Amino acid sequence: MYPICSVEPATASDVAIIMKILREKRVPFAVKGGGHSFNPGFSSTRGVHIYMRRFSKTTFYPNNQTVDIGPGLIWDDVYKALEPYNVSVIGGRITGVGVGGFTLGGGYGWKSNQYGLAIDNVFEYQLVTPNGTIVYVNNQSYHDIFFGLKGGFNNFGIVTNFNVRALPQTLIYGGILIYFQPDFDSVLAAVVNFQNNNADPKAQILCNFLALIGVPTLNIVIFYDAPTAPESLFQEFLNITSFPLLPVQTRSQLSLVQGLPTAVGANMR
Ligand SMILES: Cc1cc2nc3c(=O)[nH]c(=O)nc-3n(C[C@H](O)[C@H](O)[C@H](O)COP(=O)(O)OP(=O)(O)OC[C@H]3O[C@@H](n4cnc5c(N)ncnc54)[C@H](O)[C@@H]3O)c2cc1C
Repeated sequence: MYPICSVEPATASDVAIIMKILREKRVPFAVKGGGHSFNPGFSSTRGVHIYMRRFSKTTFYPNNQTVDIGPGLIWDDVYKALEPYNVSVIGGRITGVGVGGFTLGGGYGWKSNQYGLAIDNVFEYQLVTPNGTIVYVNNQSYHDIFFGLKGGFNNFGIVTNFNVRALPQTLIYGGILIYFQPDFDSVLAAVVNFQNNNADPKAQILCNFLALIGVPTLNIVIFYDAPTAPESLFQEFLNITSFPLLPVQTRSQLSLVQGLPTAVGANMR
């Protein structure tokens, strides 16, 4: 879907002006964060495309342990900016996912079993409403919009900043294993076993089927939120013959997120 024009605001005031013009002229429009949503019309339009990429700052506030995040970023950039401070946030688990759609839609991250979804960790939104007013939405001010934005995507306006909870981040333990037929059944049995029996909130796996150069594969991404994991936790996966796309070892969260080449939607919005 190709827009009639694309506009790239840099400030909330820019967005406010754009909203006022669009409202007055009754022009269809769409808002793009990372552009990772595959639903046609979600972040694509034949009207005016508002691309948020210039909202690209990550600022960590050690005093109150919060982070301001620009909605034009992808999570890879956020993790990279926060790494020197040994903190992280609830963000995407795979490379290329955008901050905007993820945080407005729910957001299940590697640390969600410990700290909840992305929407549970937002303290304040800077929002440009459909009539072009800039407001700061938190649990005290605009309580109803605060509730609505937790899953409300673009239905209440355009978010120009997220203030979210900073979470402690050490090195993690993880990697990516690729399995081939005829081992799919054993791997899927291990997945069911893990999901039914794992009670450690620091542990997660991500299981997906991918065709790699035309060959069907089953991929398991292993994550443990500490530099080492209890020995038996992932052993069933490690016992099955696999190709280690990313060896399972102590590493940074960013290196795990960037390990699976899934920029599937890149440049499609
Ligand atoms: C390979 C892959 C891996 C994924 N992994 C995860 C995962 O681990 N956990 C998870 O929870 N989800 C995951 N997702 C889903 C992903 O979170 C959603 O698709 C999300 O909407 C992507 O956000 P985006 O900003 O990149 O998308 P976009 O397509 O840019 O936006 C999605 C929606 O949000 C709206 N929007 C974006 N920015 C703003 C803004 N600033 N103000 C108002 N509205 C805005 C858009 O208008 C659109 O409706 C994954 C998706 C893919 C394709």
